[in-house]
Amino acid sequence: MTPRRDSKWWGWGDPAVEPQLDEEALATLRERVGELEPWPVAAELEGFELPPAEPLPRALVEAVGEAGVFTGAEDRLRHAAGCGYADLARLRGGRLEAAPDAVLVPRDAGAVSRVLELCAAEGVAVVPFGGGTSVVGGVEPLRGGHSRLVSLDLATLRGVAVDRRSLTARLGAGLRGPEAEAALRAEGVVLGHYPQSFEYATIGGFAATRSAGQASSGYGRFDSLVGAVRLIAPAGELRTLETPHTAAGPALRELVVGSEGIFGVIPEVTVRVRPEPAQRRYEAWIAEDFEAGAEIVRALAQGPGLPDVIRVSDAEETEVSLMLSGPRGLAGRAFEGYLGLRRRRGGCLIVIGVEGDEESAARRRALSVRALRRGGAAYLGQGAGRSWEHGRFQGPYLRDTLMGMGAMVETLETSHTWSRLHELHAAVGAAIRDSLDGQGTPGLVFCHLSHAYADGASLYFTFISRARRGAEVEQWREVKRAASQAIVAGGGTITHHHAVGRDHAPYMQAEIGSTGIDVLQAVKDQLDPTGIMNPGKLLP
Ligand SMILES: Cc1cc2nc3c(=O)[nH]c(=O)nc-3n(C[C@H](O)[C@H](O)[C@H](O)COP(=O)(O)OP(=O)(O)OC[C@H]3O[C@@H](n4cnc5c(N)ncnc54)[C@H](O)[C@@H]3O)c2cc1C
Repeated sequence: MTPRRDSKWWGWGDPAVEPQLDEEALATLRERVGELEPWPVAAELEGFELPPAEPLPRALVEAVGEAGVFTGAEDRLRHAAGCGYADLARLRGGRLEAAPDAVLVPRDAGAVSRVLELCAAEGVAVVPFGGGTSVVGGVEPLRGGHSRLVSLDLATLRGVAVDRRSLTARLGAGLRGPEAEAALRAEGVVLGHYPQSFEYATIGGFAATRSAGQASSGYGRFDSLVGAVRLIAPAGELRTLETPHTAAGPALRELVVGSEGIFGVIPEVTVRVRPEPAQRRYEAWIAEDFEAGAEIVRALAQGPGLPDVIRVSDAEETEVSLMLSGPRGLAGRAFEGYLGLRRRRGGCLIVIGVEGDEESAARRRALSVRALRRGGAAYLGQGAGRSWEHGRFQGPYLRDTLMGMGAMVETLETSHTWSRLHELHAAVGAAIRDSLDGQGTPGLVFCHLSHAYADGASLYFTFISRARRGAEVEQWREVKRAASQAIVAGGGTITHHHAVGRDHAPYMQAEIGSTGIDVLQAVKDQLDPTGIMNPGKLLP
């Protein structure tokens, strides 16, 4: 099997999908971020310059087989970066300082095991590669002192075995979101894991990064869906039992989920699945302000009726959502009139989604509606909810459009308890705004609350500004540093679901302290004694 080449090499996803902004949206954007200078992709794929590749040890090529070794420029390039703004800015600019020497596609888990053994013996660094959608530098080819580096593409690990009676499924690491979901639906079950990167990210990547999907309030984050894991490390293999629970010591499963390839390769996971939902209902509401919206979510998360999807946009995000996809013309004026009548102009958009059997969906919707009404939210209807649902994977395509126009577009996230959430929202938003203003590129900064828990929720920030041409990555780094420092100062986590990778590794000391880091390093030393696994990620 060849590595996949079915997405843009310089951007996100299907090259045929090119959303455009209408005149009204363009005018508002210009008003808020200033004039933009078009930012074309600098190089053709053929002209893209990569550092020369080191030859691989012969034994390694034999372990994978010639047919599983790819040293062509396109494959090396496609495995040299993730999909964060800084990655796409470098690709768009036609410059990458590092690339893997080769992409290896092992045919099965046995070959993965042989590859890791040989790489450890020969001192070849290994970057496990799922969909390459990391936004934190998780697949960056950092050598960690080794002279050679391979990207280990796990696309061939695609087994599916469903235990319908136990509602579990063993899934191969290389299955992408839609492939896993289609195979499960054929058996009448679903996983319900829908991150915005669903189309291209893989099961192994979800497990390795503790991913959270848009319906995680109901279905659970990916790590809570994982029942059992398998890890192939250079020093040997580790498995946990496929039992619903165990009291046999600290959970090794927890060491494997979120390990981001630094301990070894996850070839498959056993996940909990659910019967395919008979009912799906998405709808939108509007709260008076962000605090009122958050209070509604807190009441729901601390009671019995939490919907599967629940998100509250702050006033800025609501304005941007309406600017991009709100009603226009007569319908737009009628909508404005309705908001005025309900005294909800400048309010905050809430989207809820309930899925499940008829009885549970109806019960949870009724409880949600009660909480929404009590919290003063006004109903906007199913149309707006459905439009969010249908457009839920469109954001990254629009990022390419905006970057092409000359904009910087990036997202970051954190979480905190209900008591500290608003303070953190204000502090991180202000840090991003100040950094953008300080660089002479003021922009749009907005946020939504999602992934709700009884004790708190996550905050997901987006910022859009004019890109500082010629210094795009430096500009991004400044904003990222300011936001990360504000998160740490506010006691939030450096990542609720994007993981640590290279970008958040410097903040792990604040996150888990030096003893915590020593514990993770000791596990790594045991499983990966020569330090070949994904150097420079997760640990500072
Ligand atoms: C547009 C966009 C939207 C996103 N939205 C979300 C979202 O809603 N929720 C969310 O949680 N994340 C989101 N992400 C981040 C990203 O998609 C997730 O981190 C995803 O889980 C990564 O999966 P992947 O298969 O692409 O992994 P990769 O990017 O290939 O790898 C990620 C990390 O895991 C390691 N790894 C991958 N597979 C394995 C394996 N089998 N064994 C061991 N290590 C492995 C890699 O070495 C790397 O460190 C988004 C990213 C983008 C670009």
